Amino acid sequence: MGMTPRIRLFLNWLFHRQSQTCVACGTLAGNFSEFTGLCTRCSNQIPWVYNIRCVHCGRPTFCPDCVRPGRLARYYVCNRSATSYTPMMREWIGQFKYRGNEKFGPLLGEVMNRAYQAMRHEFADPKCTHFKRSLWDVDIVTCVPVSKKRLTERGFNQAQILAEEIAKQNKLPFLSLLVRPQDTGKQSFKSKKERMNTMNNAFSVHPNMANLMKRFILKAEPQHAVENMYSVTILLVDDIYTTGSTLQACARVLREKALEQGVHLAIFCLSLARS
Ligand SMILES: [Zn+2]
Ligand SMILES: [Zn+2]
Repeated sequence: MGMTPRIRLFLNWLFHRQSQTCVACGTLAGNFSEFTGLCTRCSNQIPWVYNIRCVHCGRPTFCPDCVRPGRLARYYVCNRSATSYTPMMREWIGQFKYRGNEKFGPLLGEVMNRAYQAMRHEFADPKCTHFKRSLWDVDIVTCVPVSKKRLTERGFNQAQILAEEIAKQNKLPFLSLLVRPQDTGKQSFKSKKERMNTMNNAFSVHPNMANLMKRFILKAEPQHAVENMYSVTILLVDDIYTTGSTLQACARVLREKALEQGVHLAIFCLSLARS
């Protein structure tokens, strides 16, 4: 079917115009930022977490949770979050996660990668003394899994897309180490205690984890040993940090399973937004 030159011109113009609109605000962008498809105005509004006040959970304000006496042992070394969970971030994550707007994938992946670079910078500083610095040398990137049901509904795991982007950008291996046998329902409607209870049994390790870990154990160096055990460092990625109970549950099963193989896991967490 032939197209008249005028129609072709019009379609070209339309396509070009489409590629010039900002994925977030939809306006014709005069200037694009360093983030894929994002105008500079939207980019300037990204609510980065700059000043970390709680070295454990990465909170930018005073943290009543981590200083609470009698708080449970943490299975991960610490968490860092790229941004605060502002209405804008909620909208972006919602577009990506629930409305399947794929354009947000690369953008949010880049936001995550920026936070990963900040983490590297922070932990390379000799003033960083809240954990053994030699532990911070990521071997494997992994993510919080979603249940089969969610995966069928959404067609993808948002945390995995973010984790894979970090892995790709930093030439690190991404491995699915965890599975989520059942759906735990919407966490946001539950109390903190209810969340903790459902979370504690929500995850298990991937049936093939032992094999996946083996090649890392083989290449592990003696100076990476902690108390005569091989040490492997994991970067655990999630989209939203609320209470940390999801990360805690994931880190616990990973560490317990690795211990059975004589491997010490140092788990560092990175989340996209913290509420
Ligand atoms: Zn914009
Ligand atoms: Zn904290």
